[in-house]
Amino acid sequence: MARDERGVTPQSEDFSSWYNELVTKAQLVERGPAKGTMVIRPYGYRIWELVQAELDRRIKDTGHENAYFPLFIPESYLRREAEHVEGFSPELAVVTHAGGKELEEPLVVRPTSETVIGEMMAKWISSYRDLPLLLNQWANVVRWELRPRLFLRTTEFLWQEGHTAHADEADAMRETMQMLDVYTEVARDIAAIPVVPGEKTPGERFAGAVKTFSIEGMMRDGKALQAGTSHYLGTNFARAFGIEFSNDAGQRELAHTTSWGMSTRMIGGVIMTHGDDKGLVLPPKLAPYQVVIVPIARGDQGEAVLDAVKTLAARLKAAGIRVHVDDRPQVSPGFKFNDWELRGVPLRLEIGPRDLAAGTVLMAKRLGDEGKIAINLDDAPTTLAAALEDFQQFLLQRAIDFRESRTVTLNSWAEFTEVVATGWARTLHCGQPECEDDIKAETAATPRCLPAEAPAESGSCVRCGAPSSYGQRVLFGRAY
Ligand SMILES: [Zn+2]
Repeated sequence: MARDERGVTPQSEDFSSWYNELVTKAQLVERGPAKGTMVIRPYGYRIWELVQAELDRRIKDTGHENAYFPLFIPESYLRREAEHVEGFSPELAVVTHAGGKELEEPLVVRPTSETVIGEMMAKWISSYRDLPLLLNQWANVVRWELRPRLFLRTTEFLWQEGHTAHADEADAMRETMQMLDVYTEVARDIAAIPVVPGEKTPGERFAGAVKTFSIEGMMRDGKALQAGTSHYLGTNFARAFGIEFSNDAGQRELAHTTSWGMSTRMIGGVIMTHGDDKGLVLPPKLAPYQVVIVPIARGDQGEAVLDAVKTLAARLKAAGIRVHVDDRPQVSPGFKFNDWELRGVPLRLEIGPRDLAAGTVLMAKRLGDEGKIAINLDDAPTTLAAALEDFQQFLLQRAIDFRESRTVTLNSWAEFTEVVATGWARTLHCGQPECEDDIKAETAATPRCLPAEAPAESGSCVRCGAPSSYGQRVLFGRAY
């Protein structure tokens, strides 16, 4: 189908094409030369930096310190935790040759760092006084992807991984839940993604974890995106790596560890939670440019308008607003409007000689039906700061409404198959892995999580009729 070179396939026509075309046309990302890799362009990287800053501040506020561990991990380390190596083996990239010869022991390019960090924790912890040990690292990791999708599944991606060690289960579980709360807050308050936090069923657990928790967001095609995970690892890694401490009675005990991560996948979540047929819609808190100003004037009036625009931009910047002036002379205002719509800028300002004379500027929101609104130039910083805050809230509410409209509490299999084709089902399940597999084979839906705030409930499994497990409803949906 012939399309405007700038436009994208409508979501309703083909969501997947919409996404693939948009991420490159909005200049967020480009495919790397090696299969499954991505080049994050400045506009996309700025979004990541904003996520990173919000998350890093919260990680530090909760007492963690950043450190850095090596990219290469001896292969034998991964083998020490049996479930861990089994879970990760198919995705590992292994270096067998370096420096012109075969290595005595192959090196794994980290898929995650429990093992190497566990080795160091064993070295650094000797007494209960060394606990809790609260670490985080910002890093890249590699997990070989057979079917890569930019931001969502790439062979190499960026993330933070927290790793902590505690004296007992209670403290480690407090940590696990605290970080799940931090992820929930960043998703909701910064990315305007109203995620559902909850525990994963055993079949969806992280390799080597005792309990895995996640936050699940609903994308605009009704599919789920797991946007962050937090794991209680019990004493599994402590046993494998000898993370021990002497308690206050002088006896040796194994530490209880946790790990938790959020990645560049979050950017994919932002795109698919808020975007529309015109392109990206960015929540102000993650928008590289929150406001773009387009001067509209030709000839001798051009200079006066541009001067006024630059003064306005400086005032907005001083008020803490990320602003960009689009003064490209070679393209029309109409082209610029479409361009910034595609790139998801929350607020656009237009200013011409007549506006200038009236002391006003025209504001258009990326979404909403208010059209163009004339705002007072003098009050612009205050008015725009408030408009950005409103827009952030508007996006969150829109996403909540969308999710609610596509989530159904149900008990019948016929209804289940219908609902998970376009959204999520809250239903009862027996907890048997074979039954989960059967549901997946029939509908492509998987258990996303046991929502944290669900009431106690039991009955029969929606699929097989056996008594339900978990004591509450399970959230099912198709997922990325
Ligand atoms: Zn069942």
